[in-house]
Amino acid sequence: MNIDIQIAEARRIQPAMDEVQFGSHVSDHMFLAEYEAGRGWHSPRVQPYGQFQLDPRALVLHYGQSVFEGLKAYRQADGGIALFRPESNAARLNASCQRMAMPALPGALFIEGLKRLIALEDAWVPATQGAALYARPIMFACEPVLGVRRSASYQFCIMLCPVPPYFQPGDPPLKLLAREDCARTAQGGCGDAKTSANYGQTIVALEGARAAGYDNLLWLDAAEHRYIEEVGITNVFVRYGDKVVTPPLSGRILPGITRDSVIRLLRSQGEQVDEREIAIEALLAGIDGGQVLEIFLTGTATIVAPVKEIGFRGRRHPFVPAPDSMATRLYRQLTAIQHGTAVDEFGWMLRIPA
Ligand code: PMP
Repeated sequence: MNIDIQIAEARRIQPAMDEVQFGSHVSDHMFLAEYEAGRGWHSPRVQPYGQFQLDPRALVLHYGQSVFEGLKAYRQADGGIALFRPESNAARLNASCQRMAMPALPGALFIEGLKRLIALEDAWVPATQGAALYARPIMFACEPVLGVRRSASYQFCIMLCPVPPYFQPGDPPLKLLAREDCARTAQGGCGDAKTSANYGQTIVALEGARAAGYDNLLWLDAAEHRYIEEVGITNVFVRYGDKVVTPPLSGRILPGITRDSVIRLLRSQGEQVDEREIAIEALLAGIDGGQVLEIFLTGTATIVAPVKEIGFRGRRHPFVPAPDSMATRLYRQLTAIQHGTAVDEFGWMLRIPA
């Protein structure tokens, strides 16, 4: 698709990678486009990173029409740059938009905006294995009016953050707390949309879990507080003997792109992966009885991270993840595909033209 994207340049001094934390720094430029009802998406452009001007009535500030995405561009073994599965993020963005009564963004605009912005920011793509340039596309309602209804205007923006590996093999495995006094989402809600409120409402519970010595929350379903759903910004997998199980796409969990990649990788290697409900009591009995061999989390930021303990109803259920774990194997296989050092047999990587 031939999209006329204007580019205005400005350069700043880059931080050293060891000063950088997840999201602490942004690159020099951002991609912007606006939507007006009746006119559609217009004015796609790359310009120096800067602030928005927003009318205090902008609908997003009141009723929360806001969606976002997260994906990474990786330095390749040959010095080039490639994005991991950007078409999947474009499709998920539009699924989130549909749920939140927001306009679809043409996939070609999403991909072309990413390509042009990342090509300009080549120097911001780290070379370290596992580090990446994280792209954060956002869209929000900006019509200045009060009333719970569809906004007539929207802002789309992509920013880029250099990020270190969030989790690496050798880091301590994670401790999760399952609680019955709170829920991330309910059936019929918007748990499968990447919309801001799904995150803001979890902070109080997350702070409680951290104060109790846990790294994150293992969400349970809202109706019965019985079935495990997902963890923070990751999906969850459980390995029993020769079988791997993960909760199904029930409408309540985010359809993770790493989740889908891990399922496809494992199945291509002859592993059995079942997508089915996992009751917390059965999971804890499996941990205590030694049938659960490992639990691991998958996500764009984390890639694959092992779990070493689950807390529930005041009891700790620790276990020792196997040293030659499936989590470590998957981490290595995924990062090798992402950095272009393993064959991309699924066609997941999109090269950024220089
Ligand atoms: N669940 C939630 C709630 C998330 O925010 C994320 C991160 N996007 C995930 C799961 C993992 O999704 P992905 O693998 O696409 O990053």
